[in-house]
Amino acid sequence: GVGVTRGGGGVGRRRVLVFPLPFEGHINPMLQLAGALHGRGGLSVTVLHTRFNALDPSLHPELAFAEVPDGVPPDVAAAGSIAEIIHAMNAAMEGESSPTWTSVRDVLASVVAADEEKPPAACLIIDANLLAVQKAAASLGLPTLVLRTGSAACLSCFLAYPMLHEKGYLPPKESRLYEPLKELPPLRIRDLFYSGQANHEIIREILARAIETVRNSDGLVINTFDELEPPELERIRGEVDVAVVLAVGPLHKLSPVDYAGRSSLLRQDHSCIEWLDTQATGSVLYVSFGSLASMDSDEFLEVAGALHSSGHPFLWVIRPDLVRGSHATTSTRLPDGFERAVEEEGRRGKVIHWAPQQQVLAHHAVGGFWTHAGWNSTLESISEGVPMICRPQFADQMMNTRYVQEAWGVGFELEGELKRGEIERAIRKLMGEKEGAGLRERAEKLRKKVAGCLESGGSSQVALDKLVKYIASL
Ligand code: UDP
Repeated sequence: GVGVTRGGGGVGRRRVLVFPLPFEGHINPMLQLAGALHGRGGLSVTVLHTRFNALDPSLHPELAFAEVPDGVPPDVAAAGSIAEIIHAMNAAMEGESSPTWTSVRDVLASVVAADEEKPPAACLIIDANLLAVQKAAASLGLPTLVLRTGSAACLSCFLAYPMLHEKGYLPPKESRLYEPLKELPPLRIRDLFYSGQANHEIIREILARAIETVRNSDGLVINTFDELEPPELERIRGEVDVAVVLAVGPLHKLSPVDYAGRSSLLRQDHSCIEWLDTQATGSVLYVSFGSLASMDSDEFLEVAGALHSSGHPFLWVIRPDLVRGSHATTSTRLPDGFERAVEEEGRRGKVIHWAPQQQVLAHHAVGGFWTHAGWNSTLESISEGVPMICRPQFADQMMNTRYVQEAWGVGFELEGELKRGEIERAIRKLMGEKEGAGLRERAEKLRKKVAGCLESGGSSQVALDKLVKYIASL
């Protein structure tokens, strides 16, 4: 077989391979980790990526790249179900090389082959959803670490899924959705991963494989920080028998490069920063639902109506595919007079396709975030002390929302049908001087905890140092 050259040289003479799952919310934290390792340990990094949502190597001169065939059929890619894409990718990557296909094992073997210019590969850091890649690496004798791009709570939930099935909580029954899970406070059945989705078998398989990837690996790295989720991290450390379990987040704050800006799958519109400069401190509601969540056109009009009449300035990200059924080529239809009103009435609002979100959340003018509660968005908001309205849709968004509301008290869920009156009420509750005071106070306290973990000697800095040392020891 193809062996991996080991040993020799200090940290600077080592190389790390990373392989993110090709979605915005997974690519960003993986590149941020790569950047942090490159900056900290002087490690060289090779990024493996699929053609599906391929990365552009020319944007990242400090990193090396290698493309891996993904085998995702065009119709599956176009349909856009993440579960189906993960499934198809792993199935294809398990295949042997043939005249028309290079196996992931063969790609890895050629990437790890040390030569004069490239330092030897110490390990491969993979997304938990890439079990096929983990197995290929193991067969080459290459150690693997998993980066979990979600919360510790989310991973500890994955670990609990077999138990939740055994106890009859899952698959979820409509009548029991609000039942608390005493084993996993503060979660209820409703908050579990994909509890609202029909395809339970495929989800169950994906989660089981993610756990298998973690258990097969040598170490686990999580984009969170020790002070945010102590009991959840403890549960994971008790249940997963790997050499290191490290909380190294929030990764966007530890990376010397703004990878979310550089590698963004959509182009970020920076004109909104100048617009924010003209707004009063804490006055603007930032509205964005991440890279995947969507709404129907009725909901869209309710949102537009509420933002218009709420009285608070707003910055709204309308992704080309935000509204289901509309196309990137035909612009989404805003209510008659909306844009004119936004621009003319005291320049009260701004609409853009995609934001430089980290800069937006860090801007003094932003006082609240209406989010879908993806984990990156949640962490980015927490890092800047911005309280949230959460409108979760799928995956881990429900459980993130539950933690935001119950564990940290820095936001609340906007539940039920999306109606103008309800939205306006939620905006007042968040942005109102009196109504939102408690949320703001707790958000500021949490922001200070983030700042603490990032200081020299802070928990995430120490964890990152440990990670560099661990990699050097491999
Ligand atoms: N993002 C961005 N511009 C936007 C909205 C989001 O750059 O207008 C980035 C955001 O900073 C985050 C990522 O896209 O890093 C979204 O990840 P998240 O986990 O929040 O949600 P997902 O898109 O995976 O549902």
